[in-house]
Amino acid sequence: MISESLWQGIIMDKTIQNMAKIREEIQSRNQEKKYDVNEMPEVAQMILDRLGIEEVPIPIVAIMKSLNFQVVAGELKDEISGIIGIDDDLAKNFKSSKVIAINNKDNVGHQRFTMAHELAHYLFDFDVSNQIVYYNTYNTFEDENEEERRANYFAANLLMPEKKFKKEFDNVVIKNNLYVTVEKLSQIFQVSGEAVRRRISELSLQV
Ligand SMILES: [Zn+2]
Repeated sequence: MISESLWQGIIMDKTIQNMAKIREEIQSRNQEKKYDVNEMPEVAQMILDRLGIEEVPIPIVAIMKSLNFQVVAGELKDEISGIIGIDDDLAKNFKSSKVIAINNKDNVGHQRFTMAHELAHYLFDFDVSNQIVYYNTYNTFEDENEEERRANYFAANLLMPEKKFKKEFDNVVIKNNLYVTVEKLSQIFQVSGEAVRRRISELSLQV
């Protein structure tokens, strides 16, 4: 398992260039035809393949940094999981004009999911060509619209890629013990138990 900190050390120029290129390609495809929720498994896997990421947990902080995001954890109102901001004015107070703030009261797994969720907004909803500033608040309990559903499904697929998830599930599953099975997968993928449970049912896996 490659730790997040090790990945930080090896975010190489190549990752930064690759991610910038991927971002551009997604943007131009998005202008022709908006990405559909059902395309998320394929897009998430494409990103992981092109970055050469085969191990979990997926180094989401490193991916955000390669896109020049500053990730900050702070006190947010209870119901808010995260905020993404793209605004030149942010550079006055942060090291970048692209910032993701995550709620420091959330567990690490939830925080990682929030980052991947916000990455989806950056890739699919922020339109570089005609938007100068973009802000989006992620409220875990809000009613989901199309954009939110796409962001959540992208995050699930990025952090728990289908093939890898099924493989690890087969390795650790304890029949008739959902609780322990979820705990183990939650450790392996570094996501919340709730996200694991949703993924198990999304992929129609049987415990
Ligand atoms: Zn959102």
